[in-house]
Amino acid sequence: MPRAVITGVAGFIGSHLADILLERGYSVVGIDNLLTGSLSNIRHLGDRDFEFIELDVTRDIAVAGPLDLVLHWASPASPVDYLELPIPTLKVGALGTHKALGLAKAKNARFVLASTSEVYGDPLEHPQRETYWGNVNPIGPRGVYDEAKRFAEAITTAYHRYHGLDAKIVRIFNTYGPRMRLQDGRAIPNFITQALRGEDVTVYGDGDQTRSFCFVSDLVRGILDLADSDVNEPVNIGNPAEMTIRQIADAIIRATGSLSRVVHKPLPADDPRVRQPDITRARTLLGWEPRVSLDEGLRKTIDYFRAALAAAETR
Ligand code: UDP
Repeated sequence: MPRAVITGVAGFIGSHLADILLERGYSVVGIDNLLTGSLSNIRHLGDRDFEFIELDVTRDIAVAGPLDLVLHWASPASPVDYLELPIPTLKVGALGTHKALGLAKAKNARFVLASTSEVYGDPLEHPQRETYWGNVNPIGPRGVYDEAKRFAEAITTAYHRYHGLDAKIVRIFNTYGPRMRLQDGRAIPNFITQALRGEDVTVYGDGDQTRSFCFVSDLVRGILDLADSDVNEPVNIGNPAEMTIRQIADAIIRATGSLSRVVHKPLPADDPRVRQPDITRARTLLGWEPRVSLDEGLRKTIDYFRAALAAAETR
């Protein structure tokens, strides 16, 4: 039976990775320090072939027995989190990636780094191809995340080149779905929570900035397609359906049947104007493309938020 480690397993994407690996017959060891992750995301795995270790991966990671795959997902990932946690964000991207790579090397396991479209910064190339080097402000408020992930890509590539580690880099674009936190701070969870509560929906700036949103089941399938491939260059995984933030706010108000109205708030510093993945590499090298439409993805996400809000309110 193949065996995998997931760092950041109690997070939104980490917990979905655990689900899909268990479905595919893996034994899973999940690691998390619960800084932004939550045990409620992995409680349902209790009766599966799943072991949880509560650990900060910037420290030594000790896992007994053989391993086939290390998925390094630990990091704050919402802009509001990395603004509040700048040093833990830098440390997990730098020191934590070093430790996770060391674990993969010691076990001769394949390694996948959770990188991000943030390595492209506020992009001057549109859509973004993997060959684009990016436009990042190292000392801006997002620099702690962007530069940590850029360092993480550099050290992952060095382990591949100098140690021959079978290391992969996935550049994740905006993703949404069940198990995002009610107070996550990112656009889709904020808008759904606000719409379901009948509160004002907060669009930052004029709302003309764009993003391209991928449903989480498409993303984790793409990550495993990459893990199973012989590809070692970075690969964008995201849904190229680009829209403005104002459009996604309106779509969520419609889909929830809410009476909320849109209000505008100041645009955060260095907020990228546009973002859209070029997924030619994923299509040609992995045969991957997204399948879930925005309508279907929003429906599933809104159902989850409705239940989570009801549970939070009766608590
Ligand atoms: N945004 C917004 N209202 C919110 C949260 C976010 O208008 O309540 C905007 C944010 O300024 C950005 C876009 O939505 O332009 C996506 O933000 P998010 O925090 O989801 O992630 P990002 O793509 O910026 O990393």
